[in-house]
Amino acid sequence: ETPVPRFRRVMLKISGEALMGDQGYGLHPPTVERIAREVKAVRDMGVEVCMVIGGGNIFRGLQGSAQGMERTTADYMGMLATVMNALAMQSALEAMGVFTRVISAIPMDQVCEPYIRRRAVRHLEKKRVCIFAAGTGNPYFTTDTAATLRASEMGCEAIFKGTKVDGVYDKDPKQHPDARRFDRIGYTEVLARNLGVMDASAIALARDNDLPIIVFSLDEPGGFRGIIEGRGTYTVVH
Ligand code: UDP
Repeated sequence: ETPVPRFRRVMLKISGEALMGDQGYGLHPPTVERIAREVKAVRDMGVEVCMVIGGGNIFRGLQGSAQGMERTTADYMGMLATVMNALAMQSALEAMGVFTRVISAIPMDQVCEPYIRRRAVRHLEKKRVCIFAAGTGNPYFTTDTAATLRASEMGCEAIFKGTKVDGVYDKDPKQHPDARRFDRIGYTEVLARNLGVMDASAIALARDNDLPIIVFSLDEPGGFRGIIEGRGTYTVVH
């Protein structure tokens, strides 16, 4: 018997680094495939899935500007990196039979669709996974902000932020064994304590739009689906 999903439409945000496996750079196909399976499990429940993938496994704007490049140019390179990650994820999903659209904030018609809100909504209604690429299309932003923006525009009920740990802790649990995980925490407290869930603009935007952020571990097989079904450990930022 199929459990009833608690969400109708969600945004999954993962960093580019989540796709690089144990390598220090780039894409690790078995890892991309593993995450695609997590997405498929949720889509197969009938949940409408949006995704935003970062670009940090390939290029970060700050890293480029630290090397003397103009910040805006470096940021555009970072946005292009997210398009490559989105295409890799699309390829993995479609190999599993999941219909997927890559939708870019920067039009590149030969590669993917441009972002047109109503068209993206229609894809979701048809149960196609929508991967929003090229961030917000603007330098000085991050893909966390892009995920929050698109989640708001698409009417997602929550942003699922897949990380290496199973929630938000008062200090880094990989370094401090006595770190405490929050079950729930407010946006303002996350900002005041600088807890590093997402960057400050993304958290402020989520707060302004009353959009819950669910922080969970991507390393837990079936973890994404589990939370949709009401199981597992995670932190809700709301
Ligand atoms: N970026 C940008 N505007 C956006 C989103 C991303 O300029 O709206 C650039 C920025 O340079 C950033 C890079 O794209 O460093 C990759 O995104 P991000 O750092 O968010 O990736 P993640 O850390 O999630 O892998």
